[in-house]
Amino acid sequence: MIRTVDGDLLPPILYYHRVAPGVHPGVGVEPSEFSRQMSLLKRLGYEGISLRDVKGENGDRKTVVITFDDGYLDNFQHAGPILQENGFRATIFCVSKKTGGLSDWTTDPVWSGLPLMDKGHLRELHRLGFEIGSHSRTHPDLSRLPVSEAREEIEGSRRDLEDLLGTSVETFCYPYGAFSEAAIELVRGAGYRYARSVLRMKWGARYKRHLLPCRSVSGKMPFIRFAGYSLLYRAGF
Ligand SMILES: [Zn+2]
Repeated sequence: MIRTVDGDLLPPILYYHRVAPGVHPGVGVEPSEFSRQMSLLKRLGYEGISLRDVKGENGDRKTVVITFDDGYLDNFQHAGPILQENGFRATIFCVSKKTGGLSDWTTDPVWSGLPLMDKGHLRELHRLGFEIGSHSRTHPDLSRLPVSEAREEIEGSRRDLEDLLGTSVETFCYPYGAFSEAAIELVRGAGYRYARSVLRMKWGARYKRHLLPCRSVSGKMPFIRFAGYSLLYRAGF
């Protein structure tokens, strides 16, 4: 469970990037493995939900928030159908000015040049009940950006996605997990209800609503460890 400084009790948040056959284990999981993970959560009585659908005050132990960063095309092709098979939904944090393009914000060969979902994919996932959250406009390091540019990325991406989807965009995720106090204030001021960082969930810690922690899941996590975390969370940790 995640406790906030405001007294909210939130479900655990899982954090993925890619789900694709042959994916590098550092950036994603095989569809068969993802399916196994989601089936386990379902057998344990969990419902996978989006961050938008969190009810902050009740600390429901039957839910787990599932999130994806960057908006890779394979989320639409592989993760979405597996989530739907289990009756789950998720939040996909998209880079609003990169839709339909490639991940070109890094030169790391494992992460760059990967196809991203286009506007039609995002509209379809939204129609199916998935949440499209903001991951900025161009995926900059917000901790190093001048405030005026950071504001443009944070507020502008919200406007871009709201125009695209015709709904309010309530959640944000920091590119590279990088933040500053100024960036957190901009995110709060832009009207986002929650923001996810890449801080690790720690039992007993308290987190800001605009700096929520998570559990990162990649192809490097053995299934037994995923199962262990799932059981711990169900026990209230
Ligand atoms: Zn990212």
